[in-house]
Amino acid sequence: MTDAAIDAVIVDAVINWVSGPVLRATTQKPFHLNEAVKVGQQELLGEVVRINGNEAVIQVYEDTTGLRPGDPVMATGSQLSVKLGPGLLGNIFDGLLRPLNSRAHFVKPGIRQDITDKKFAFRPLIKAGDEIKRGAVFATVQRDDARLQRCLAPPDCDGRVLSIKPAGDYTEDEILCVLDCSGNVRELGMSHYWPVRQPRPVMQRMPIKGPLFTGQRILDSLFPIGCGSRAAMPGGFGTGKTVLQETLAKWCDADVIIYVGCGERGNEMAGVLHEFPSLEDPRTGRPLMERTVIIANTSNMPVAAREASIYTAVTVGEYFRDQGLRVALMADSTSRWAEALREISGRLGELPGEAGYPAYLSSRQADFYERAAHVQTLSGMVGSLTIIGAVSPPSADFSEPVTTHTKRYVRCFWGLDATRAQARFYPAIHPLQSYSRDVDGLKHFWSQNGHPTWDSQRQRFLALLEEQARLDRMARIIGKDALPPRQQHVLLCAELINESFLRQSAFSEVDRYCSAERQIAMMKMITLFIKFSENAIDMGTSTETISRLPVMRRLMRMGEEIAEGELEKFDELRTELDIAFTQLSHSATQDTRQETASNES
Ligand code: ADP
Repeated sequence: MTDAAIDAVIVDAVINWVSGPVLRATTQKPFHLNEAVKVGQQELLGEVVRINGNEAVIQVYEDTTGLRPGDPVMATGSQLSVKLGPGLLGNIFDGLLRPLNSRAHFVKPGIRQDITDKKFAFRPLIKAGDEIKRGAVFATVQRDDARLQRCLAPPDCDGRVLSIKPAGDYTEDEILCVLDCSGNVRELGMSHYWPVRQPRPVMQRMPIKGPLFTGQRILDSLFPIGCGSRAAMPGGFGTGKTVLQETLAKWCDADVIIYVGCGERGNEMAGVLHEFPSLEDPRTGRPLMERTVIIANTSNMPVAAREASIYTAVTVGEYFRDQGLRVALMADSTSRWAEALREISGRLGELPGEAGYPAYLSSRQADFYERAAHVQTLSGMVGSLTIIGAVSPPSADFSEPVTTHTKRYVRCFWGLDATRAQARFYPAIHPLQSYSRDVDGLKHFWSQNGHPTWDSQRQRFLALLEEQARLDRMARIIGKDALPPRQQHVLLCAELINESFLRQSAFSEVDRYCSAERQIAMMKMITLFIKFSENAIDMGTSTETISRLPVMRRLMRMGEEIAEGELEKFDELRTELDIAFTQLSHSATQDTRQETASNES
């Protein structure tokens, strides 16, 4: 803006103090808390975060370099909002949902969300004169390169349709339907704005019913997450948070994925941005980007935008949920988001709480995770938003504030362990530091898939892993060979569970995704081994003899060696297991007979 242009616009406040992303402005008219404002000559986007008499404190979502006292601030009259519409799927945005330049991944200062001239195929589902209820689906939008989407009436008015455009190609911003809402005329298009800090209304929240199936054995079979639930994966540097988030984004069975890279290193985010567009959805064979929205806010982008990016992402997630879809939101990492809160709070001069974080850290985290839900939407459809947040505690200390507060709000906790990661055991989720509160609600899923004993087998596996940890400690003192045969057997079974079942490389062509059928087959195979080997130990066979069986090697490597679509190979493996243990029991019986005979002679 030129000086003449500034004079021409209505200036609502004037900057009197600037510190990084925070500024104070002397106001000439009352502002609202959380009102979005335009700051300075470049009209940078900001938000009023505190009001004190005629002074407003504003956080700015863009680089404030060059701002100075005397620069103007213009009110917008509305809260910080983002445009939600059919153009979101398949695209990459910054923390304020502004499209990122596909080449350089940057946005120019002061840029708003695009008004694009891209057209989408619109098909109305109602006609003039119809009465529609709030949140109703009034049309569908089809894109060649993305799934069918629905246009929703605003959640705050029931109305009568005055006019609606016929089926055809229109842009996101055109007025397509006019409603009479008790005398107020409302104009609707394919897209609409929604304030990011305000949860979208629903008819009712419902209990968790089915899983968000991830294709990762340790998650689906041991610590499953329900659709509409919330999970945290804390882990130190290099423990595999980003790889796991990306793996989930690629393979989980959600209809829409929102991936928010929040304060991560630029090169990691660049990896995501370059890799995702080339990946295929394993279920549909279509490009994975067609069901994905990426929100990128790397560590070098403005800190306040990082704070907003989490709310932006969850708002986009709710928008798709309201269309009756299963949405999964991956946030990497919520610790960087908390750090942004801390930095801004420091600049606002607020009293620091634990580890310097603001006193409201916990309630902000709750606001975020509570927006995950399995719901009946206003239009009566069923949708869900599942949130999976990575947490990067400094020095992998799970007792630090962000991790401890997160624990209070999530239902699944997948603790990543540095020792496992150092041993290159991936995913490095520690089975004894993790839990899922969704297990009870998901038993029927496994029963329906022909695995009614899933929960008891799961508990057996966990009990063996717990016992292994205890025995390992003992073995370090007295030596493994000094343990009684039953205890050595526990160590062998736990090793099999770890190596064949819990280890799953995200980079293996065969094993990066494991279907429910394959997980069940593997679980059953291990359970059978435990049963056979227990009998063999009781008959006097040593653990060492069992561990030297050729079938052991095949069991250990079954994840890598038996691909999806070759499940009949599990029957062959079962036969091999049967034969191996039958032979063992024959030779054990012969040994006993020979022993008895030699004792008698
Ligand atoms: P973090 O985000 O916790 O710092 P990363 O996700 O970047 O850690 O993982 C660090 C490295 O660990 C990766 O580059 C990769 O080599 C390895 N890794 C992590 N998870 C897996 C996995 N599931 N399968 C195979 N390798 C993995």
